[in-house]
Amino acid sequence: MTDFDYDLFVIGGGSGGVRAGRMAAMAGNRVAVAEEYRFGGTCVIRGCVPKKLMVYASSFAEAFEDAEGFGWDVGERRFDWPTLIAAKDKEIARLEGLYQKGLTTNGADLFHSRAEIVDPHTVRIVNQDRTVTAAHILIATGGTPFTPEIEGHELTISSNEIFHLTEHPRRAVIVGGGYIACEFAGILNGLGTEVTLSYRKDLFLRGFDLEVREHVAEEMRKKGIKLLFETTPQRVVDDGDGLRVDLDNGDSLRGDIVMMATGRKANTQGLGLEQAGVNLKKNGAIDVDDYSQTNVPSIWAVGDVTGRLDLTPIAIREGAAFVETVFHGNPTKADHALVPTAIFTQPEIGTLGMAEDVAAKDHEIEVYSASFRPMVATLSGRDEKMLMKLIVDKPSQKILGVHVVGHGAGEMIQMAGVAVKMGATKADFDRTVAVHPTAAEELVTMKTPVR
Ligand code: FAD
Repeated sequence: MTDFDYDLFVIGGGSGGVRAGRMAAMAGNRVAVAEEYRFGGTCVIRGCVPKKLMVYASSFAEAFEDAEGFGWDVGERRFDWPTLIAAKDKEIARLEGLYQKGLTTNGADLFHSRAEIVDPHTVRIVNQDRTVTAAHILIATGGTPFTPEIEGHELTISSNEIFHLTEHPRRAVIVGGGYIACEFAGILNGLGTEVTLSYRKDLFLRGFDLEVREHVAEEMRKKGIKLLFETTPQRVVDDGDGLRVDLDNGDSLRGDIVMMATGRKANTQGLGLEQAGVNLKKNGAIDVDDYSQTNVPSIWAVGDVTGRLDLTPIAIREGAAFVETVFHGNPTKADHALVPTAIFTQPEIGTLGMAEDVAAKDHEIEVYSASFRPMVATLSGRDEKMLMKLIVDKPSQKILGVHVVGHGAGEMIQMAGVAVKMGATKADFDRTVAVHPTAAEELVTMKTPVR
């Protein structure tokens, strides 16, 4: 490897790239990481972390209301948007520093620049207009929001800009039906914005369990979010009273902001992949094998740019598996099965394994499902329900899917994930003693299948 400037050159300083770069450097390799925007990547700078901070901020509105049922007089409530944004920005800058430090203290070189591939062992550092060579190149460039080019699309914002609004929007139109659209509908609604979500299909959160999707839609409506399904924006116009969104059904919506959360695409444009001979999938993501290797042996790719499972912990696992494979001589695949995940809608979703309709396709299943009023709602008086659901393979009694909607769902699904990953059966859940009084105890006390 000594003929090259580096043993590893990582393009992209996000979740996957930083983990791989740090671990390879810790193992004594000569590593460089190039980042064109900010170290930490989507997750830290404009994804999971700032979003969760905003979810926390938005959840206080209900907490203050609910407190009254428990005897509190919380007095006057005021929310200041610039204070939240400034506090969030400070925390993000702190994390960005930690990400860089984790690399430099282990001896990696950082380039604050875009990088592009010249050939299978050469990378161009764009802002220095020079090239460096590496035995291995890891592409970890992530993804970027995709916005359809309808008339007036340049007036809209994406999830990138929502984190930097200087003013509190009073009205927002959110277009899209993925988790990002749904999460921001909840965030803005909680912060006092009047929110309308427009989605072209009949129900949002496609790919998740249908009962979960219906439950969340109903709860979001109760919180005052206007959900418009089977509507598609035709144009966005600035007509003096904020932005007007004309829909295909003839109706119009108004917003101070229009957020397009209409999907993401892999960051592969202009990277030099074609000239290096790297195969791409039809959707522009990089085609890799189970070990994250492309068809060009010295070029590897991890994270969202490969379009496998666009989640931070997956990008991190893929980065770690890559280092194990390449620098420790131990071929390792990242495990993409039974990944527990949370969606920070309000109410929150925790989900793991198969949705009911998916499981029913090739399994004989039993479905355990309970929808109930959480204890906190008895005194708060809030009209809200939780949902707990287990999908069980009837012959083996193995748990195929766990779906939770409500307070703490994300925290619950992490622990359920351990059990299901170990191959837990319904009988294992049944013989686990309930933690009382909690909502989670419902997961181990459901006795009779509903279907
Ligand atoms: P990224 O983190 O996107 O990092 C790629 C980096 O490469 C970027 O910093 C980019 O600037 C840089 N880059 C791109 N091209 C170049 C180039 N040519 N040269 C140099 N640098 C380049 N996941 C979860 O698990 N939980 C969540 O709650 C969650 N919430 C999310 C909320 C939002 C709004 C978004 C957008 C995403 C969310 N995600 C969440 C997804 C998560 O952020 C991604 O899966 C994760 O960041 C992927 O990591 P990565 O390393 O593949 O790419």
